[in-house]
Amino acid sequence: MCAAFSHIYLESRAEDYPETKRLLEKFSDSTVVSIRHYKDVFNRPAQDSRLQNGSKSLILAVNDRKKIFDASPVCQDFGMGKFYYAESAMNCVFSCDYCFLKGMYGTSNVVIFVNQEDYLKECEEKLKEGPVYLCASFDTDLGALSKVSGWMNVWEGFASTHPDLTLELRTKSVVDSFRNDPNIIYAFTLSPDEVIDQFEKMTPSLDARIACVNQAIAKDAQVRLCFDPLIYIKNFELCYNRFVDKILQSIDLTRVRDISIGTFRISSDYLPNLRKACPDSSAVLFPFDREDGFCVYPADVRSRLIGIIKNELEKAGYGNKLYIIP
Ligand code: SF4
Repeated sequence: MCAAFSHIYLESRAEDYPETKRLLEKFSDSTVVSIRHYKDVFNRPAQDSRLQNGSKSLILAVNDRKKIFDASPVCQDFGMGKFYYAESAMNCVFSCDYCFLKGMYGTSNVVIFVNQEDYLKECEEKLKEGPVYLCASFDTDLGALSKVSGWMNVWEGFASTHPDLTLELRTKSVVDSFRNDPNIIYAFTLSPDEVIDQFEKMTPSLDARIACVNQAIAKDAQVRLCFDPLIYIKNFELCYNRFVDKILQSIDLTRVRDISIGTFRISSDYLPNLRKACPDSSAVLFPFDREDGFCVYPADVRSRLIGIIKNELEKAGYGNKLYIIP
């Protein structure tokens, strides 16, 4: 998917960066509006994120604060040591109807930070302290942005020359090029068609995502499958059973590095805004339990959802590849 942006808001200090020039050339039909600071647009009060979904604007900015953060405790660390995420961009072109970004930001507009070299320097500083595990596609889906922004290539190139960095690029998108470096992990989030149709309407179909996974495998890339978030939907047992059967039939899991499983969860702080942004989404209207500052499904729902995927994958002999967020 290559998003078209009717408007590009451009921080004056971002003008001279090569990424800015490339993006302005790419979107030469967009109206460019000069701004002082991205927050003047991105954080403007009383935005209607639902209305903006039909016509998102792109904001090009320089990130002059911290760029790489400690990851949240509800994220799977795959047994890796120092676990960070990079805020390469903010917001996502896909707008899934359960996405925590809708609870975190009051807008659907997308910020791309163009001072890529500064991120790499900050990462190099972290690497001086030891090996780093970095999720670069976190407050966005860099795969979905890959036809717009050069960020994926930048992180891939950096990881290629920094073997102590293990890079995870997580996506629901269909990416068309892969590297086979052992420290670059392409993490594909897969969902049943019933979930895609209801809550991930702008993302590629399950078949398209599976085809993309198989392309990555064919290129000997490191592939991770993410069954996360599992969503409690009508007939979930039937849907997820059918789904896992399809995965087993269509992907050679012996060629997959690992598999993560987790149910929907969100910070309690974000849920009210998420519900406001997606008032018709049954995925976010569920009467969640609260645990340690997060809204989660009750324990029995979590264990039933996880059990479907886990049991089938264990039966098929892939129990040793599973990482489960209980
Ligand atoms: S693809 Fe991921 S980041 Fe993008 S809207 Fe969907 S859940 Fe959010």
